[in-house]
Amino acid sequence: MTNDMTTNLTSERSEAYIALGANLGRREETLREALRMLNEHSEIDVLRASDVYETDPVGYEDQPPFLNMAAAVATSLAPHKLLEAMQDIENRLGRVRDIRFGPRTADLDLLWMDGLTIATEALTLPHPRMHERFFVLVPLEDVVPENEPSGLRMLVEDSLIQLGEASGILRFSSPLFP
Ligand code: ADP
Ligand code: MG
Repeated sequence: MTNDMTTNLTSERSEAYIALGANLGRREETLREALRMLNEHSEIDVLRASDVYETDPVGYEDQPPFLNMAAAVATSLAPHKLLEAMQDIENRLGRVRDIRFGPRTADLDLLWMDGLTIATEALTLPHPRMHERFFVLVPLEDVVPENEPSGLRMLVEDSLIQLGEASGILRFSSPLFP
C-alpha cells in the first residue's frame, strides 16, 4: 500500500533541464537567487546545478559577457506551468524584455523534459537552439547523467562533437547550489 502510493507519486514527477543566464547587475547573485526561487516553489526541487561559465554574447554582440549555468530539477508541474514559474522568476528578478537575444538580468530557458516534444509558440521542446550553443551545452553536460533515460546525454555529446572546439566560454566558478 505505502509502496504503491510512493511509486505513483514519483512517477508523476518529471525531470527537467533548465538553462540560466545573466549579464546585467550582480550576475552570480542573480543566478543563486533564481536557483533558490526555483527550489522554493512547492512543486519544483532542484536536483543538480552545473558549474558557472562566463561566455561571450552570441547573436547581439554589443552587450556585456554572460554568466551561464544549467540545472536539473524534478517537478510535478506540466511543461507550460513550469515555464510560467520560470518566467515569474525572471520577472521577480527584474528582467525587462526589450531586445531579443539582448541584455537581461535573468534568462531561464526550458531545454528538455523527459524527451517530450512540444511545438507551440509559447513553448517549444526540446529547446530549438540548445544544440548549437556552447553556452547551453557545456553547462548542461555537467548535470546530465550518463544513464539519463530519455536520450539527453547522447544529444549533448553529439551536439558538442558537431560544434568542434569550444570557444567564447570559460569556467567561472563552482556550482551555486545547494
Ligand atoms: P531567448 O531566451 O530566446 O533570448 P526570450 O527568453 O525572450 O528569448 O523568450 C522568448 C519566448 O520564447 C518566450 O515568450 C517563451 O514563451 C518562448 N519559448 C518557447 N519555447 C521556450 C523554451 N523551451 N524555453 C523558454 N522559452 C520558450
Ligand atoms: Mg529565454
